[in-house]
Amino acid sequence: MTSDHLLPRNATRLVKVGTTSIGAGNPIVIQSMCATSTRNIELTSKQIQALSDAGAGLVRLAVDSRKDAEAALEIAARVDANLCIDLQENWRLAQVLAPGVAKIRYNPGHLHHHERSLDWQEKVRRIASWAAEGDTALRVGVNCGSVDPAMKEAWPADDSISPMVTSALEHAEFLDSIGFDRYVVSLKDSDPNLVIEANRRFASQRPEIPLHLGVTEAGLPPDGIVKTRIAFEQLISRGIGDTIRVSLTLPNPQKSQEVTAGRKILEDIAQGRVRSVVHYQGGGPNIISCPSCSRVENEAFVELAQQVKQLSQQFSQHDITIAVMGCRVNGPGETDDADLGLWCAPSFVNLKRGSESLGAFPYDQILDRLQQEIEALIGQRGSIQ
Ligand code: SF4
Repeated sequence: MTSDHLLPRNATRLVKVGTTSIGAGNPIVIQSMCATSTRNIELTSKQIQALSDAGAGLVRLAVDSRKDAEAALEIAARVDANLCIDLQENWRLAQVLAPGVAKIRYNPGHLHHHERSLDWQEKVRRIASWAAEGDTALRVGVNCGSVDPAMKEAWPADDSISPMVTSALEHAEFLDSIGFDRYVVSLKDSDPNLVIEANRRFASQRPEIPLHLGVTEAGLPPDGIVKTRIAFEQLISRGIGDTIRVSLTLPNPQKSQEVTAGRKILEDIAQGRVRSVVHYQGGGPNIISCPSCSRVENEAFVELAQQVKQLSQQFSQHDITIAVMGCRVNGPGETDDADLGLWCAPSFVNLKRGSESLGAFPYDQILDRLQQEIEALIGQRGSIQ
């Protein structure tokens, strides 16, 4: 156990998740997520074991298809860990998964893709009733890159926090109204300042709902750990947060660093070892990269993220944000807000400038092309920034 029991905590509800308990003053649960293919049952079971051995109280798996769901259930029957399933658009898979897993995460922003004739309330009603029948908890997982489009339209384009917070509040209120309260909420962004603001706003209105904290696509260590630490210090020191994940871009054998980094951050906050400058301020290149998961389409992605970081060092005078993502599920959307974005397909890398596509390039050509684009961008800005 970490010394995080010394931390002040909001009086949140108890949410039972398998054999662990989130909220109600229980120790903050450290989570991680498998980056192996969910259908590779052997490899994924091994990674779950490694994450559990490192101290993960909950391990998440991505499930996008019926085949993934079948594999996840087989894995759940084999391993001892508490498993959380990460659903994307295929919300109906919750029905088959609920009886076999400890928790299911749905993303409000992904509910509108399938079966548009059903409104989101009906979909959530069904997910919640499957969860109740299957004795499973839920997470309402709101993500900056995939906020419900209706919410986005309701707010000015330069306000990315209000749509996230409103969406989370709306889903919490709806789940409560149908009598389902075994859920946690998360509001994630790749910018720690936005994570801080979104979670503070949510917690000020619903302090009793347990929050899962994380900075999404935090990137490679050590920067990814620093970004996450900045957000966690501000939130956990104020009693906000009952479970955490440190999302890092790591090769599979090192994935358990997410757990050890999380534990270290909690211990440091509990002991008062916090940074004096906790407001995340830019200055030089900001390289965002996703933590990788089973959806990664080419394992060269991790090395590419490292190479992009190395390349960016020659532009240390420039505030430039480059996002590197592992797949087509979240890559196209999550790169929109970066100055330059790369998302990886099996044999090529897609390059973007903001939301504009600049084309697809082989892995051995993408760095040269990226360098040209960085230089062009800096040239257009006309001065050192
Ligand atoms: S961008 Fe794709 S590969 Fe990376 S964590 Fe997100 S879903 Fe997984």
